[in-house]
Amino acid sequence: LVQLRGVRKHFGSLEVLKGISMDVQAGEVSVLLGPSGSGKSTLLRCINHLETIDGGRITVDGEVVGYRDHGDRLREMHPREVAKQRRSIGMVFQRFNLFPHKTAIENIIEAPMVVSRLSRSDAIAEARQLLRRVGLEAWADHYPSQLSGGQQQRIAIARALAMKPKLMLFDEPTSALDPELVGEVLDVMKELAHEGMTMIVVTHEIGFAREVADQVVFMDGGVVVESGAPVDLIDNPQHARTQGFLHSVL
Ligand code: ATP
Ligand code: MG
Repeated sequence: LVQLRGVRKHFGSLEVLKGISMDVQAGEVSVLLGPSGSGKSTLLRCINHLETIDGGRITVDGEVVGYRDHGDRLREMHPREVAKQRRSIGMVFQRFNLFPHKTAIENIIEAPMVVSRLSRSDAIAEARQLLRRVGLEAWADHYPSQLSGGQQQRIAIARALAMKPKLMLFDEPTSALDPELVGEVLDVMKELAHEGMTMIVVTHEIGFAREVADQVVFMDGGVVVESGAPVDLIDNPQHARTQGFLHSVL
């Protein structure tokens, strides 16, 4: 479903992505690991074109993301087309960025109503199902400030799912949470994986990677150092840099 080929990105003189290639099959979960500054967040942001890229190409479901394909040349897409593409890619960030002045359910129905032009009653019906999926039916009318971090993050996941994405990107979704709240968010993500959602997850939760990932990709310094099935990459890493990193997080 997702193909990255030689993706490059720099900020000024800093080369952050130095030719990243990877594939994610439909229905599979890829976990991205790597030390701070290795380019993980930048890569996710490139996949839904929150960042432009300087080289290579990214394809999601057969479409080049962010650019019109003119053979060997890529040209920037119109923002309206980018927005349309981005709708099929859900993203959940480290900091639950819910609208603070909207209740849980209002957060979820916002995009379906405004962007997909769903009627309020249809949007609410779908949102209630999503709330049930993340175990928060009883919290529909609460404001983010009245919810725990774990609950807010589950609402953020429900909000992303409301746009019926083909692909979900997660950028350290549990790293801002108190330890006792991590499990409830990972459980929702596991459930989603079992339902067949295609996911790219940046996380240091090695247990999650081991249990759920089809592929684990280790990045360092803007390159993919190695990738493979969790049993190979986590339990039998080939590169010293991967071994060192795993020692530091396990
Ligand atoms: P972390 O584990 O800390 O989240 P990361 O692997 O997600 O790290 P990135 O956030 O992708 O790393 O950042 C990679 C590098 O790019 C860092 O050196 C960062 O300072 C730099 N960088 C990221 N975004 C920008 C930006 N908008 N402008 C300039 N530099 C940036
Ligand atoms: Mg990051």
